[in-house]
Amino acid sequence: MIESLPPDLVERLEELGRALDIEQSVSAYGGGRIRITDADRNEVVKNVTSEATQGSSAGSRQGQRSWSRSGGSWSRGAWARRRPAGEPGAFSSEQARSLYAAETRSLAQEYDINCAETQLGIWVAAKSRPLGSRGPSVHFLIALPFNQEIMPRSWCFAGIGNGSKPLGLRHTNFPDASICAFVKEDRTWDYSDGLVALVDIYSVWALRQLHNEVFGWWPGPQLGLGALYRKTEFQPNEFCGCSSGKRYRDCHLASDLLVDEQAAQAEFKRLFRTNYSNRNVPAVVLNAAQNRWRIWPDMRAAYSFRPIDPVR
Ligand SMILES: [Zn+2]
Repeated sequence: MIESLPPDLVERLEELGRALDIEQSVSAYGGGRIRITDADRNEVVKNVTSEATQGSSAGSRQGQRSWSRSGGSWSRGAWARRRPAGEPGAFSSEQARSLYAAETRSLAQEYDINCAETQLGIWVAAKSRPLGSRGPSVHFLIALPFNQEIMPRSWCFAGIGNGSKPLGLRHTNFPDASICAFVKEDRTWDYSDGLVALVDIYSVWALRQLHNEVFGWWPGPQLGLGALYRKTEFQPNEFCGCSSGKRYRDCHLASDLLVDEQAAQAEFKRLFRTNYSNRNVPAVVLNAAQNRWRIWPDMRAAYSFRPIDPVR
């Protein structure tokens, strides 16, 4: 899909990457399109005003949320919405309705979604276009348990149907290749922030993934524990994974290169309790994507991989 990216979208991706890399705040709106918040804010306000004066139909509201990262948390500014309301999630159990009916209705106003209810929680498949309507679609599959002490677990695909494959492996968890867009301790997202905010965060993650695919490096701050992980996946100009705020070349790169391969692998195994090569989307999850969400994974099977809690 990247091969066919028009030159203006390559430019757009580069610009967004630069913004993320200097930690400018970005926002997602209608369908997951990512914008630089501050630079575009006036323009967005202007559009809202002109649409309002043209008397656009009721229910056709303009949408944007924005975040700014400060002290490890995201603050959200509410804007109106652009897309018309989608079908509400028609769940049969009281549990599903009370936890997720309103949430999935809101989500359907922003993203094309499919939902399914299972015994242990709901599945949501959401399509996002981080570069806008002419850009590539990415497809998230999100497990949302009824037990909200358990965090959602999600995967991202570059396409669905035959030949469906994960969008990329950068910043996915070991060993199940689920999206690693934030860690719980950061309080970047919690259930009270809602599903729209969750998919928006994933859309920014997908944009970084696309940037990495096109330009070969990951824009913006990132986590990366262990010499093997960093030296395999990180470019020198990227942020180091140790939260120093320095570039990798100015931080852990030299010492990582001095760790011999066997020691690096042993450290990785100690941190992640698996081998580096063991990172694969679970078969039940891949199967759902290949079948275009006509079948849904067993949630217990999708969660059967040990939770990722690397020893620090
Ligand atoms: Zn470092």
